[in-house]
Amino acid sequence: MSDPLAPGAVIGILGGGQLGRMLSVAASRLGYRTHIYEPGAAPAGDVAHAVTNASYEDAEALRRFAEAVDVITYEFENVPADSLDLLESIRPIRPNRRALAVSQDRLTEKEFLRDLGLRTAPFADAASEKDLPAALKRIGVPSILKTRRMGYDGKGQIRFADVGQRDWTGAEAVLEGFVDFSAEISVIVARGIDGSVAAYDPGRNLHEGGILRTTTVPSGIPQAMVTDAVLLAARIAAALDYVGVMGVELFVTAEGLVVNEIAPRVHNSGHWTQAGCTVDQFEQHIRAIAGLPLGDGKRYADVVMENLIGQDMDRLPELLASPDVQIHLYGKSETREGRKMGHINRVLR
Ligand code: AMP
Repeated sequence: MSDPLAPGAVIGILGGGQLGRMLSVAASRLGYRTHIYEPGAAPAGDVAHAVTNASYEDAEALRRFAEAVDVITYEFENVPADSLDLLESIRPIRPNRRALAVSQDRLTEKEFLRDLGLRTAPFADAASEKDLPAALKRIGVPSILKTRRMGYDGKGQIRFADVGQRDWTGAEAVLEGFVDFSAEISVIVARGIDGSVAAYDPGRNLHEGGILRTTTVPSGIPQAMVTDAVLLAARIAAALDYVGVMGVELFVTAEGLVVNEIAPRVHNSGHWTQAGCTVDQFEQHIRAIAGLPLGDGKRYADVVMENLIGQDMDRLPELLASPDVQIHLYGKSETREGRKMGHINRVLR
């Protein structure tokens, strides 16, 4: 086990979006500095000590970045493997490469979860368009074709209602059977360098058009299921020898919990922890990757988190005038449809 990072140490963050921004704020509260690596516009850069604006393929920029930091973490999961090899030859990457490899590829992820004995949607490999009829025959309809890589917020997904349907994602895919769920929940779990685990209370998620709209805690699911959810998230983290915060998305079904996907990073559905817990998911992640003891995941309030997406920003004056609303804006200059611009947390009691 390595020593904890000393105050003033620099945490390198791959990805400069809102998650990197909130990680950066949390890191500074703990006395660390952050260095953001981001090819595009970087909302996180506003609150960081340094920013590298370069492509994820720029070996020289990656090398300089790694040499300038003490540990590397990420909020963006699709950094090319060669670049990660280079970074890892210079500084530790936390969470580790295995967690990234598993979650970057929906097929590998499903196989990993199945091999752990966890339930997933029924799935079939559809490596190319010609594999689609056989996959449809095996899985049936309704089903969803999802690209193996680079999918998020429901992007790269096609729904199938008829086995004769012949749409194609244009890239290697997995066909998933439709899960008949009564709710979607997620567990945010943290694992420290010493193997200790802290989980937050699962939140109930509502999506609109494939994008997370709200997360509510408590989720309203039975306590036995809450325990199941937390235990299975901890099992996933332990199996990956994980260090950091991870989001596990689950479907609640009549037969129990089905794992939808895992995200090896802080997660949108964990933003409520900013208003409901002493140590929120961002601080928890920084603590974990810095080798500090984990904070308590205990929830002391009921909270609803709502994303501010695109034109929701028009509601800002009204939200600012509400004294009980905690507002987080990401500092993005351009408002676009479907773009996450900020979020709010409301404490219910
Ligand atoms: P994903 O990108 O896999 O998180 O999917 C986005 C959303 O689509 C999920 O949050 C669910 O609402 C829905 N969804 C995805 N996969 C399935 C499935 N196998 N069965 C039912 N709904 C699904």
